[in-house]
Amino acid sequence: MPEPVKRNVAVLGGGPAGLSAAFRLLHDLPPGLSVKVDLYEATGRLGGAVTSACDAGFCYELGPNSMNAKHPSVADLIQEKLRLKPRMLPRSPYAKRYYFMRDGKLVPLPLSPLHFATTGLLSWRAKWHVVKEPFVARLQDVRDSHMESVASFFQRRFGREVVDYLVDPMVAGTYSGKPADLSMKHALRKVWRLEQKHGSVIGALLRGAGKTKPDPRYKPYTGKELRASFTYDKGMEVVTDALVANINDLNPRGGRLYTHGKVRTLDRDPNGAWRINGRGKYDAVISTIPTHAVKSIYTNMSALGKGFKKLNKSIKYAPVSVVVMGFDKSQVPHPLDGFGALIPTVEGRQILGINFSSSNYPQRLSDPDKVFLTVYVGGQRNPDLPFRRAKEIVDISKKELGHVLGVKGDPFFSRVKTWKRGIPQYDPQFDESLCTMARAEKSAKGFVFGGNYRDGVGLPDALRSGILSAEKTLQYLKTL
Ligand SMILES: Cc1cc2nc3c(=O)[nH]c(=O)nc-3n(C[C@H](O)[C@H](O)[C@H](O)COP(=O)(O)OP(=O)(O)OC[C@H]3O[C@@H](n4cnc5c(N)ncnc54)[C@H](O)[C@@H]3O)c2cc1C
Repeated sequence: MPEPVKRNVAVLGGGPAGLSAAFRLLHDLPPGLSVKVDLYEATGRLGGAVTSACDAGFCYELGPNSMNAKHPSVADLIQEKLRLKPRMLPRSPYAKRYYFMRDGKLVPLPLSPLHFATTGLLSWRAKWHVVKEPFVARLQDVRDSHMESVASFFQRRFGREVVDYLVDPMVAGTYSGKPADLSMKHALRKVWRLEQKHGSVIGALLRGAGKTKPDPRYKPYTGKELRASFTYDKGMEVVTDALVANINDLNPRGGRLYTHGKVRTLDRDPNGAWRINGRGKYDAVISTIPTHAVKSIYTNMSALGKGFKKLNKSIKYAPVSVVVMGFDKSQVPHPLDGFGALIPTVEGRQILGINFSSSNYPQRLSDPDKVFLTVYVGGQRNPDLPFRRAKEIVDISKKELGHVLGVKGDPFFSRVKTWKRGIPQYDPQFDESLCTMARAEKSAKGFVFGGNYRDGVGLPDALRSGILSAEKTLQYLKTL
């Protein structure tokens, strides 16, 4: 049998995107190709923002608290390739509600037409605006629709109250962002496409549009459990740990995952091979390093260097503090029968929202007389708060839990994790950032950008982005 063609690839960044890229480069390769992967991670641990901990009788998250696997490539990764199904924890049916604050009270999101008609979350005027949505015209100028903000889109189609009481808190919950500063096309792409294709969001949904299309390369999963949010027995780190273990098993010829491997220089030697920090000979590079950290990376490829600087300037990141708190059940009068509560800006509170963590995943709680809540502080709404001292952030959270849920007294446990640059914001000029990436990739053959600053901000988006980046790289390797 002929020797396989040997290629070396460097993956930069050891978060979910970097790990899934590395895994895809090693798994299911075409016959005759052997890829060795070296992954460089700046910190002492792999997993990026995924940070689970088991402490004080509960397993909680300081980063992403759950995920879904609507996309076939992500479902395939976790179910077929990593075989994580036995460790999966679906969200408890007890936590079925989604609370939103209105006039100081928590109101469940209506999930049926009858509930919509009777809910106090929106006024009659606002409900009428929603009902009329199918008759609202699209924007005349196509360019305007590509640059429209989330706030403008929803105000135009659904009215101001929907923006204030539904869209604003949802955007705070997913992006830690503000609707006026985010691009509809990129931040809520699926909804944007419904208007583009069908002329109406509600009309399209009623006709069953907007579902993820099956991908013939992957086994179709029709079960509800992958479309709803879920976690794993020991938290989201189960996914990144499984990726690490599989990469270590599959990596040939001494390929390694380097922690404390901060990338400072990325250049090409005179023969065209890529080098990281002056070392190695790589045929291709995938960078999943967040754009807030690429400015200081030296490269001798001027177009790529310019791209790094531009992206560093154009993509902002929202700061957010995650505050996990444990209480005795008797201190919390609210039944916590929901996923959590989202707080609109107009309510004038100091927090973005609360996740009812132990209601969502009670299997992870050792004492049923305790409850754990996770509070999110800061975001683009209050960008200074995450930079305060941890004790102050806990005090703010405690005070707000008193207002929102009626929680009394001190927590028996609290832990704060601040992400100074937590979540990338896809602003209305995001098309330009994507063009910058495409131009830089064209000028630097073998280099690919991937991660949550490009293909979606959620954990499944990052996993999928890694897979896509690896597939682009495998295509490139074929051309060598
Ligand atoms: C507080 C919070 C809550 C979240 N909640 C959810 C949720 O509930 N559900 C969900 O789906 N998603 C959630 N997310 C989003 C999810 O965590 C991200 O989509 C995902 O982590 C992005 O993966 P990534 O690999 O692109 O980037 P990251 O996870 O940021 O990983 C990038 C890696 O690059 C490394 N790096 C940086 N600079 C260098 C350098 N110079 N050299 C080498 N390495 C470098 C970093 O140390 C890091 O490990 C949340 C995010 C945050 C911050």
